[in-house]
Amino acid sequence: MSNQYRQWIDGEWCDAKNAGTWDVLNPATEEVVRTVPFGDAEDCRAAIAAAARAFPAWSQLAGPARGNYLFKVAELLDQRFESIATEMTREEGKTLPEAKGEVRRAINIFRYFGGEGSRLPGFLVPSERDRVHMFTLRKAIGVVGLITPWNFPIAIPAWKMAPALICGNTLIIKPASAAPLCAWRIVEACHDAGIPKGVVNFIAGSGGELGQALLSAPPVKAVSFTGSTEVGHWVHEQASKRRLRIQLEMGGKNPTIVLADAPFAASVENVVNAAFFSTGQKCTATSRVVVEEPIYDKFLEALIERTRKLKVGNGMEAGVDIGPAVDQGALETFVRYCEIGAQEAGPAKLGGKRLTGPGYDKGYFFEPTIFAGVTPEMRIAQEEIFGPVLAVMKAKDAKDALRIANEIPFGLSSSIQTSSLSSAFDFVYGAQAGLLTVNLPSAGVEYQLPFGGTKDSSFGPKEQGPAAMEFYSDLKTIYLKY
Ligand code: NAP
Repeated sequence: MSNQYRQWIDGEWCDAKNAGTWDVLNPATEEVVRTVPFGDAEDCRAAIAAAARAFPAWSQLAGPARGNYLFKVAELLDQRFESIATEMTREEGKTLPEAKGEVRRAINIFRYFGGEGSRLPGFLVPSERDRVHMFTLRKAIGVVGLITPWNFPIAIPAWKMAPALICGNTLIIKPASAAPLCAWRIVEACHDAGIPKGVVNFIAGSGGELGQALLSAPPVKAVSFTGSTEVGHWVHEQASKRRLRIQLEMGGKNPTIVLADAPFAASVENVVNAAFFSTGQKCTATSRVVVEEPIYDKFLEALIERTRKLKVGNGMEAGVDIGPAVDQGALETFVRYCEIGAQEAGPAKLGGKRLTGPGYDKGYFFEPTIFAGVTPEMRIAQEEIFGPVLAVMKAKDAKDALRIANEIPFGLSSSIQTSSLSSAFDFVYGAQAGLLTVNLPSAGVEYQLPFGGTKDSSFGPKEQGPAAMEFYSDLKTIYLKY
């Protein structure tokens, strides 16, 4: 594994043309993990031109041959598993076991989509006409731009890059500035796997500048973006000017409903897991728990007791459950929303403050926080905080709980805890979200099924599983008389 980190454009490792650099900080210690190039629109244009040149040959390669490259990338990531996971904990802050789980997922994603190269499913149907053969073919769309956030620094780049490549597209990936190193590790594996020059291009720099360059360049046929709703809406506006194909995965404010008949202890665990692990910085994290009245007090008490036992600290240390916020800005958001929450719902029942003292002074550590007595119109019940801050709400019954759960602009994930099959199905049919879980945490999805939300959380075709092929390819429909 290389110790250099540089942009990768047209098969060359290169520094930013403007010689810009950027320090990636460890959020647990504020140490510089690595100084990396910080490119600009000129680098982006060079990457786009390289991807356009590489497209004809790559898209004409047989699917299984592209699949072999993806299998090789998976193998290389597997060989580098431990060091990539360690680097992830250092750049993003999540605990080492969480980082290992994520690297494993990225490896599996490359294997999964490598296999798709031997399928690339189209379909064949019988014609009404004599001796007419009708079928579809799946074809690549061209150069695609991929913009990723920091919170899953290897899984999200993997779940965009692998389907883009297997469908025959060439790409430019631009990772989040806060945590770009793991995406670079995939690119490094693509290089080492021998993927031809120009097929994969990696640029780093300001999202605003590089995003604009990607969205306005004619060779780019599609952009897949994951990040905040605010930036996603801006991407949507820019893309619609050119009728560019886009896929947007954005923010959430995900509920978990806990009914009185729920398996009690398991429900407490599921809520704590979904609300606080990864510092609440998962797009599918639970940030609202809606509890049925008869068990509200008992559940709140158990939730507080269980959360109190969580250990916050440097994710490299054994026994730590929750790492730091990704950066100072995220930490300030937690602090600001805790002030808003205290004004709206009264003092937090647990937490609510930045952690200080030995082991905490240098990083962005925050107490896992619980507000109770939250009502649906409050800002802490409506707005994404993207941190370890949980709003506990009371519902009269299952119907009321579903109403409260749905009363938000977002629709990414939603969860219910119940032992009633009937309540589970009412939820499955009535919940306004793209990802639903029953008696599981709201977070924790797998790559074999479609991923994505509804309402303000998502726009365009879903990611992952067979659905990913819809975004990264076109179907040609053929009628052939023989
Ligand atoms: P963000 O600030 O929106 O940034 C996401 C990416 O967009 C980064 O690479 C960023 O670059 C880039 N960017 C910034 N401004 C841009 C612009 N004007 N045009 C194009 N790209 C631009 O989000 P984040 O803070 O990284 O991630 C947290 C958010 O992602 C949360 O809202 C979370 O819910 C959401 N998320 C959603 C999903 C999902 O699947 N729905 C999954 C994970 C995360 P810079 O880093 O250089 O600014």
